[in-house]
Amino acid sequence: MLTGDQYKESLRDGRKTYFEGERIEDLPAHPLLGQTTDYTAVAYDKYYRPESDAVSPLLCVPQSADDLRDLIPLLHDAGMMAHVTSTSIQTLKTAMGRMAEVKPDYIERMGAYIEEAQRGDIRITQCITDAKGDRSRPPAKQDDLDSYVRVVDRQRDGVVIRGAKLHITGASFGHDLLTIPTKAMKAGEEDWSIGCVVPVNAEGVKIINTTYAPRHEDTRSFPVSSHYHYPEGFVIFDDVFVPHERVFLDGETSYAAVFAHSLGLWERLGGLSAFVEEADQLVGFAQLVAEANGTAGISHVREKISEMIIHATLIRASLEAAVGNCNIGPEGAAFPNELYVNAGKFHAAANYNLMVRHLHDISGGAVLTAPAPADFENAEVGDLARKYMSTGRAVDGEYRSMLMHAIRDLTADAYGGWKSVTNIQAGGGLYAQRIVTRRHYDLDGAKLKALQVAGMAEGGH
Ligand SMILES: Cc1cc2nc3c(=O)[nH]c(=O)nc-3n(C[C@H](O)[C@H](O)[C@H](O)COP(=O)(O)OP(=O)(O)OC[C@H]3O[C@@H](n4cnc5c(N)ncnc54)[C@H](O)[C@@H]3O)c2cc1C
Repeated sequence: MLTGDQYKESLRDGRKTYFEGERIEDLPAHPLLGQTTDYTAVAYDKYYRPESDAVSPLLCVPQSADDLRDLIPLLHDAGMMAHVTSTSIQTLKTAMGRMAEVKPDYIERMGAYIEEAQRGDIRITQCITDAKGDRSRPPAKQDDLDSYVRVVDRQRDGVVIRGAKLHITGASFGHDLLTIPTKAMKAGEEDWSIGCVVPVNAEGVKIINTTYAPRHEDTRSFPVSSHYHYPEGFVIFDDVFVPHERVFLDGETSYAAVFAHSLGLWERLGGLSAFVEEADQLVGFAQLVAEANGTAGISHVREKISEMIIHATLIRASLEAAVGNCNIGPEGAAFPNELYVNAGKFHAAANYNLMVRHLHDISGGAVLTAPAPADFENAEVGDLARKYMSTGRAVDGEYRSMLMHAIRDLTADAYGGWKSVTNIQAGGGLYAQRIVTRRHYDLDGAKLKALQVAGMAEGGH
């Protein structure tokens, strides 16, 4: 296993990673992006064990509903790099079970890779979303054939890939890029049916980072986003050689979607479990700010908070249903129930903005205009700011302001904006969750129930 320091040192491997026009030579030393390596290192230290055969619990494959239930809080605690690595490992494990009829080499390679990743305690990010060009056209009909990552050369020892994967969470902060097709492929799309693993420092890989991390000198006004930010990477594969041992699919179009579906399942489980925590946080802020404003007993405020509580409870129930009704694949690995994961993730994402609307409604305009922490320290205006932000003897004005800052940071500033788009898009967008939910729902069973209650036969027969 790696210690935090060893993790940071491992990122000094010649990787080509960029931020706002500059190449970053030393990622851990970068004033903004280095923060991400710092708290990833803290999580490494927390789970470090010195025995030579130790495997991090963050990288283990769950075998039962209880394992799955235990893994979720561990990943929340360890942060995004642990989450994306676990999701990558579970994706491969799930795909292995769904690819039994394909070349046995692929299954063996995936199994060997998982063991190597566990032994090396590495972090893996998930590269699925292609640049995609014109969304109405398939890969082979694009003006630029590189719009979807493809194989441009097949050599004796491996393949050469070209293309880009966009919005990749934490891409610059891991060791390997799990690179898989973003959608189903058809005959004629063999070159785009490529699944493989690429080291971040491989020749030809270039990553452009973006982040919502606050740039302000005094980050006390950003109590949420100043602690954790995991930049997204715009990952470019500029003719990258991948040896055969790291290729898990090459040309078998009928299996291209297996990876996307497997990853979608795990990514949405992660999304749903995050929503469950965040929904409780939004309820908590709504109640705290109502108490601080003196409105907690007013009927319309209570009703809004009750509605938020119902939402938070229902998505928690769908997470439990997804875990409790998990399936065990032929590889012995447990994977969550598709129907409940997708329905729960859809419901949580589609209604997040309603939760935020209630919170903003209850909070008032101070969400945007509360004086900054430094204003309270100013000799001329500090006490006056405290006096007028207070709502009574029991409510300190600075405390109320800090509540407002936390709500702004979480829901109404750079991080809040990032969240409101991410909630909709990450994990494949609402459309994808609708399709998968419908596919796994027992529609025939529902029709039968309708016919029975109406005392009818289908088609009148
Ligand atoms: C913060 C963040 C982090 C992310 N992290 C990752 C990551 O780690 N790894 C990763 O691989 N991806 C990641 N994503 C990408 C995410 O999965 C995509 O944003 C999402 O799948 C939508 O793709 P797109 O952004 O290209 O938008 P588009 O594909 O342009 O979609 C926009 C809209 O058009 C619709 N649409 C597009 N094409 C079609 C079509 N052919 N038929 C019908 N409707 C269509 C979509 O349903 C959607 O409503 C992340 C995204 C965000 C915002």
